Amino acid sequence: MATCPHCKGHLTEQHRCPRSPGRRAFETTVAAVGGGLAVLLVMSIVDPHAAISSDGPLLLVGALAGIGLDRWLRA
Ligand SMILES: [Zn+2]
Repeated sequence: MATCPHCKGHLTEQHRCPRSPGRRAFETTVAAVGGGLAVLLVMSIVDPHAAISSDGPLLLVGALAGIGLDRWLRA
């Protein structure tokens, strides 16, 4: 069985190096913040006077979307 040069794990067909929990948490946070900011940016263009929306729920949706996208891209 070959060994991965990065993490010393078994180099199987689907091998992916495990990420450290701290780095994972950091990346998830970045994705959430990025998603929230992206939604705010889009809404500031689509709805400049915030007539149809308030920021709180949108930030939450954006953050969740960012996390979801992050997970999906790594799946
Ligand atoms: Zn590895």
